[in-house]
Amino acid sequence: MNDKRQQLIVSAIKNGTVIDHIPAKSVFQVLRILGLDNTQKQVYFGVNLESKKYGTKGIIKVSDHWFASEEINKIALVAPTATLIEIRDYEVTRKTGVEIPERIEGIVKCFNPNCITNKEDVGTKFTVIYDEHNELKLACHYCEKNTSRDNLVFI
Ligand SMILES: [Zn+2]
Repeated sequence: MNDKRQQLIVSAIKNGTVIDHIPAKSVFQVLRILGLDNTQKQVYFGVNLESKKYGTKGIIKVSDHWFASEEINKIALVAPTATLIEIRDYEVTRKTGVEIPERIEGIVKCFNPNCITNKEDVGTKFTVIYDEHNELKLACHYCEKNTSRDNLVFI
């Protein structure tokens, strides 16, 4: 996609947030994590769009809304390549990546069926760790079992 077209897609909303470079398969998860599957806001999204860098990608645009970084960083679990673009009056005012937070609370289920968070009304709490292959894992605060990226189930 050339720069002109890229520019057009990005500036299609007057005010708000564009989340670009989402892995195509993660778009619906990102919508859910951000609560955009149940919102009064104006949301546009596209999946399987052309991307020079990644082959295909997804994009989400939310009018008149800007996210706090703690909120947006939650999507880094499923969309580490995402670019966050803030638009004010058709101008890009901020462009950043997303960072995986050190702690994840209440977004993901613990993989261990015997964990207290799966048996009682206790919110999940994890520390983000990396194994010897540099794979991300979530270490449960309660049962100390690790949930791998493949086993992520969002609440
Ligand atoms: Zn657990």
